[in-house]
Amino acid sequence: MKTSVLERFLRYVRIDTRADESSTSWPSSPGQLELMRLLERELRDIGLSDVVVDENGYLMASVPATTNGDVPVIGFIAHVDTSPEMSGTNVKPIVHAGYDGRDIVLPDDPTAGLRASENPALAAGIGDDIVTASGTTLLGADDKAGVAEIMAAVEWLVAHPEIPHGLVRIAFTPDEEIGRGADRFDVERFGAAYAYTLDGGSRGELEYESFSADLFTATFIGFNTHPGYARGRMVNAIRAAADFISSLPREEMTPETTDDYEGYVHPYAVDASVDRTTVKVLIRDFLTGELGTKRAMLEYLARQAADAHAGCRLETAITEQYRNMREVLDRHPEVVERARTAMRRAGIEPIERPIRGGTDGSRLSFMGLPTPNLFAGEHNFHSRLEWVSVQDMEKAVEVIVELCEVWARTQGSDLEF
Ligand SMILES: [Zn+2]
Repeated sequence: MKTSVLERFLRYVRIDTRADESSTSWPSSPGQLELMRLLERELRDIGLSDVVVDENGYLMASVPATTNGDVPVIGFIAHVDTSPEMSGTNVKPIVHAGYDGRDIVLPDDPTAGLRASENPALAAGIGDDIVTASGTTLLGADDKAGVAEIMAAVEWLVAHPEIPHGLVRIAFTPDEEIGRGADRFDVERFGAAYAYTLDGGSRGELEYESFSADLFTATFIGFNTHPGYARGRMVNAIRAAADFISSLPREEMTPETTDDYEGYVHPYAVDASVDRTTVKVLIRDFLTGELGTKRAMLEYLARQAADAHAGCRLETAITEQYRNMREVLDRHPEVVERARTAMRRAGIEPIERPIRGGTDGSRLSFMGLPTPNLFAGEHNFHSRLEWVSVQDMEKAVEVIVELCEVWARTQGSDLEF
């Protein structure tokens, strides 16, 4: 199955779609809209008639059903933005055809080398065509690989009306990397019963468990006055905050000491002054119920630290961030099961691992659209060493096409394998 996925990918990565956290516009950067407009034109050229880019920069479109059975509407979603952590300006993609296993040196920064010995997935990709950037930017495979795969799959489905499938919806979203991707996603307008994000790593990855996540904020309120005349009067909020931070667990329950299904608490930002010091702590766990236990511990430690400084006041707040999508997906086991079937039909054994983070799918699942994540072939994301294998992208296209057919053949229709 030879598709347009590489040619599309090389076109999309050249557009700078770096998300901008400081922006309040939708999307957060103009390049994202530029790519959306390009995708809109290309989808019309393929023959889709209902392509819409809405006022927030979300693109939605449909591939009409080829069977009139009672097949649920399924959707495929990818994000067009790239990480704010690394430049996405002037991305120069390089295709290393028939990768031979030797170090890949990136020409614009000879110190940036990709070594198979340090990248097991790359070692597994010997013989593949590997795409990298040139050394000074990220590549943008996260998530333009997913975008290109969905586009190529749409083109394939339209060109092969003999493949039975129900109505297929696609969406391209802005600003996933700054956590806004699901914010203005109109689930009702999308109209799918289930969806899949194409935003994962190695061939075969199938992700349907994510962290549940809260943000805990402790604000220590002191009293500032001229330090030369502060005796008996100053209350230094920085000292209380420092006591709080040093009282947090460090041999366990931290990002540095946990793996697999272990959660953590993670102080990651401090805004400090004598008068007022705020500490932000991420709370992560696969069990949503455990978030409350960790929060109670944080409240206790913050209270102790405040109480140790006479006159120091404490305010705390908790913000829900996202929830483990598995809580939703367990109620719809067929969504993950169909993905397993589609992968096996494409000759791939699914690799099922929990995501130690969240995806847009974690949010969308709780907004009424159960959405696991499928591999897109992304590696070393947010890095100048980002790479993707063309053969992995081709496989992802195949999985999308298979999924459409699997849903049609296994649900409420007289078609069978
Ligand atoms: Zn991504």
